Amino acid sequence: MTEDEFTTEIYYESDADESQLDDVTVAVLGYGSQGHAHALNLHDSGVDVVVGLREDSSSRSAVEADGLEVVTPVEAASRAQIVSMLVPDTVQPHVYEQIEDELEEGDTLQFAHGFNIHYNQIQPDENVDVTMIAPKSPGHLVRRNYENGEGTPGLLAVYQDATGDAKERALAYSKAIGCARAGVVETTFREETETDLFGEQAVLCGGIAELIKVGYETLVDAGYSPEMAYFECLNEMKLIVDLMYEDGLGAMWDSVSDTAEYGGLTRGEAVIDDQVRANMEEVLEEVQNGEFATEWVTENQANRPVYTQLNQAEKDHESEEVGERLRALFAWQEEQEEESEDERSKVQAD
Ligand code: NAD
Ligand code: MG
Repeated sequence: MTEDEFTTEIYYESDADESQLDDVTVAVLGYGSQGHAHALNLHDSGVDVVVGLREDSSSRSAVEADGLEVVTPVEAASRAQIVSMLVPDTVQPHVYEQIEDELEEGDTLQFAHGFNIHYNQIQPDENVDVTMIAPKSPGHLVRRNYENGEGTPGLLAVYQDATGDAKERALAYSKAIGCARAGVVETTFREETETDLFGEQAVLCGGIAELIKVGYETLVDAGYSPEMAYFECLNEMKLIVDLMYEDGLGAMWDSVSDTAEYGGLTRGEAVIDDQVRANMEEVLEEVQNGEFATEWVTENQANRPVYTQLNQAEKDHESEEVGERLRALFAWQEEQEEESEDERSKVQAD
């Protein structure tokens, strides 16, 4: 498959051969969201796992409490045939420099996101396999689903197949962490990286936060109360997104009133107009031509001056303080939800 041909092949447990991981040691570098879930699921699937963390890492005690072995990243990589790179993306090039010499011919360098490979921040020797198994969920769900006998959908990609077995091994890895129970969608490092960056910038994180803020500010500037603006533009977002998540856009349009549907369908396109479409195309272009990646790498090298300032400005937005007061009004609801969750787990335990 060339980089420009995208497929949507989906693999399941029956497509994976777990014997690919017989006599294999997996080094899981990092024990955060994904690291702890991959390490524990692999271990429970009978795979030999060693976790690699810095000598002074605060996560070391957590690994030991979970009954796994923890050594330095260098020692873990030297013992392993599969090295799973699960430290933060911005730290990966630094950790890779340390462990590079431990990768032997035929070993696998395994990722959960393609940024560093796609943008050449990590350039592995051509005698190792380079693969990706990326669960489409935060790590705590990857772990919880596995423990419940359920799966978490994931992505699979092969960037470099030195052994001829790269895909088979990646599939076995996806089975061992539980992803193949739900389904593993084949993609490329390029497609995963570029769609992930575009999505979080234009739609999910960047787009939605600005839509909320501009909506909120438009109401408040016109003299409406901040509380009403917060309810309308932020709080209710969850109800709408929940409907879309369950059954797509159609379910949302079916659930809202005809007035909301007519108003939304006629005015939505006026707000998100051709200019916004052109802006999105520009954002995508900066992802595709590497401009964004270069900017973010440079920003990190300079100790994040822009990031730090924007992060603070977002915390200082007026809606944050209004939200804190309003969310307290919903405290009773959260308590009720927790109680009914307790009830459910009691029923399961009985
Ligand atoms: P994280 O921030 O939760 O955890 C990273 C862990 O790395 C830390 O807990 C620590 O144990 C270790 N670490 C931190 N700094 C280190 C350093 N300087 N040297 C060595 N170890 C260090 O990271 P994460 O969110 O699990 O992300 C890991 C990978 O998984 C990334 O490539 C990310 O893009 C990908 N991913 C994350 C998610 C998610 O939902 N969190 C989902 C899919 C893919
Ligand atoms: Mg090795």
